[in-house]
Amino acid sequence: MNKPIFGVAGFPINFFATPYGKKRENIFKWLKELDLDAMEIQCTYGIRMKKDQAVLYRDLAKQYGITLTMHAPYYINLGSANDEVVERSKEELKKAIELAHILDVKRIIFHPGGGYGTDRKAGLERIIKILNSLEKEIDLKNIKVYPEIGGKINQLGSLEEIIEICKGVKFARPCIDLAHLHAREKGSMNSADQIIAVLNKIEKELGRKILEETHFHVYPVDYTEKGEKIHKAFGDKTKENQLSIFDSDSDNEYMPRAEDYIKALKEVNLTPITICEAFNTQEIGAVLMKSIYFS
Ligand SMILES: [Zn+2]
Repeated sequence: MNKPIFGVAGFPINFFATPYGKKRENIFKWLKELDLDAMEIQCTYGIRMKKDQAVLYRDLAKQYGITLTMHAPYYINLGSANDEVVERSKEELKKAIELAHILDVKRIIFHPGGGYGTDRKAGLERIIKILNSLEKEIDLKNIKVYPEIGGKINQLGSLEEIIEICKGVKFARPCIDLAHLHAREKGSMNSADQIIAVLNKIEKELGRKILEETHFHVYPVDYTEKGEKIHKAFGDKTKENQLSIFDSDSDNEYMPRAEDYIKALKEVNLTPITICEAFNTQEIGAVLMKSIYFS
């Protein structure tokens, strides 16, 4: 039977407060000691990792049983109405794919982004076209690209748009950032049932196999009229300004909640890779989700 995989986005701040934090490559040992299973390498400000560092990370990740995924740079914008931006974005994505091959990463997450002008549909079509053109230009091997749900309403990347991209590109899979979905829909992920509805929709539109390969980002979030405002930690309260990470019985918690997400996974019988992006507490959030799952 498959087991769910829980991990962190990037290097948690708490890692640097431990003796391990003196060397970044100790992250894999540290995650293993926390009984975590994955790390999303954040190339959010550019693909800059040197080859020998990538080889070292790949080998250490393997040694400690840590699954690696990759977040491509934020400035990748395949749906832009500006051809130059699209071309540059495409080259950057190719660099991400090349690095992923060295790291033995099978999932590259990227933001569909803004800058599409006034026509969302045209932006979406550009993304699909560019992604499909990649296949002829670079050997993807078994890499899948994961367009992520956008946290702001003016960004491409509603649930429907992500599904549309995945329908149009056979090596694309959904990255469901539940917090982004919650923020852009102004509070839609308040219960397990609402999360289950998202999972069911993916299965209905894309099939069970693609649902099983769907990637998740899960953490609570604060939002405004325009969408995402700031990541929160599990247990953070909206009214009292009080941090109590493992206290899930009280009200006024930022959503989505770890308990609701895990309940939804079990209901739908899903064992995905889940990356926690909780504010300064990625590893605590990932451990929390894992402990709820296996309790
Ligand atoms: Zn992201």
